[in-house]
Amino acid sequence: MNAFKKSVSPLAKVFCDIKYTGDGKLSISGNMPNGGGQINTMLREIPEEEREYMPGWDAETFNRFLDVWDEWHLNDMRAGCEHQRAEKWENKRIDPVEVPGVIANRDERGVLAIWVRKSEHPEGLLCEPCPVCGYKYGSAWLKEEVPEDVLSFLVSLPDSGIDPGDSYNEQAEKFLAKTGATITAEHKETAKYFDDDKETRDIYQITITRGTRSYSFPFGQSINNSGKYHAINIYGKNQNNGNTVFPPTWEPPMVNRGGDPLKKGMDYKKNPNFSAPSAYDVLAAIQKNDPGTFHDFCMDFGYDEDSRRAEKTYEAVKEEYTQLSRLFTDSELEEMQEIN
Ligand SMILES: [Zn+2]
Repeated sequence: MNAFKKSVSPLAKVFCDIKYTGDGKLSISGNMPNGGGQINTMLREIPEEEREYMPGWDAETFNRFLDVWDEWHLNDMRAGCEHQRAEKWENKRIDPVEVPGVIANRDERGVLAIWVRKSEHPEGLLCEPCPVCGYKYGSAWLKEEVPEDVLSFLVSLPDSGIDPGDSYNEQAEKFLAKTGATITAEHKETAKYFDDDKETRDIYQITITRGTRSYSFPFGQSINNSGKYHAINIYGKNQNNGNTVFPPTWEPPMVNRGGDPLKKGMDYKKNPNFSAPSAYDVLAAIQKNDPGTFHDFCMDFGYDEDSRRAEKTYEAVKEEYTQLSRLFTDSELEEMQEIN
């Protein structure tokens, strides 16, 4: 099957992007009024009587779509081989009282056997060889080919009529190509960034360059897109201790579970939405029109003119616009305003 990319809308106000790459990787993500990203479980929990199917969709198609999503999303990141998956190694649990030293990777059913070594418990499966092919569980990320009938099913789903995923990004990329400008994002740190931040997020240094001129400034990435991994407690709930996002360089220990910065009672989950700021993210957020006087600015955004914080924000916005005016002409800035 050739690479494809499409957007589908199974239910009212629900949009899902499906992407299949030339090297056979499938990813699916979605957006609904109360969430985005891996929303397949949330979608499944919507009671049948509340589901407003869009044209071309019914209960059967919808459920099959969710099954495909559960089963094949990130088919290139399997910790087990096909035989281990067929034997459902991922479902095997050990009673927590039998492995008191293992604090992470457990759920209400017990400790996941795939994260326990045989030396820790006789039922441990981590690094145990497959009886068929000998592959040791968890020793690599394996790719499992998505079956043709699954791909044909996805291709046959009705298009939502919306350009899939990154049409905004394409607009931003076109603008950069036309003006010969470049945008780079370099990760600086993972910390609280905005005044009211309760959790950490990735902070990048963005540099827009055009010819010999450039403008560089910090950018707080959305928490949703920050960190390859997020901290959760051992029962799978968000840790929410003000330090939810691990820096992007943090990789989970394959074997030595519970090590720093994983604290007691703390686990992690992979963040499927992890990404550096795109050209679109930057161009959409940046100040592209003249904020005018402080008075105009306060009128436009409903700020109190006596507020110290409003003044600080105004100064920052004004500086951003001034810097951008050095890089782009008025008509280019006007064109950039379309990106939002
Ligand atoms: Zn095998």
